[in-house]
Amino acid sequence: METSEGSCATSPLTERDGELWAKPPISAQLPVRFDNGTEFASIEGYCAKCDGAIIDADLRGTVTRLLPAVACVEAVGVCRSCRMLTRFYWRLHDDFRLTGPTRDGWGEWLPKQSMFSRVSRVLRSLLGA
Ligand SMILES: [Zn+2]
Repeated sequence: METSEGSCATSPLTERDGELWAKPPISAQLPVRFDNGTEFASIEGYCAKCDGAIIDADLRGTVTRLLPAVACVEAVGVCRSCRMLTRFYWRLHDDFRLTGPTRDGWGEWLPKQSMFSRVSRVLRSLLGA
């Protein structure tokens, strides 16, 4: 259970980091589905140092529903190549936007996944499902 601690040794951990790291992987808490049919099936985190993708099992934290149309993801991810801990805070919106704090203020992204979800949703509605 505590083996993960060693991989974080290069980055001083806060108490909150430890709490989030003790949670299940974010991938295990997906998909997030909204009443209007929008679905976030996967979320990718990238290392703040090397920009490499953090694998699902190493991106852990909480997914909470703030409002019917907004969910919040708070997570920490550990990069396997540089062993850096990166903190994530995202809000998922039912119009496929992903927002959160960045170095330059509040940011907004459209995740790659959204296109696929959008297409599959259109196909489903075309099929009358
Ligand atoms: Zn890295």
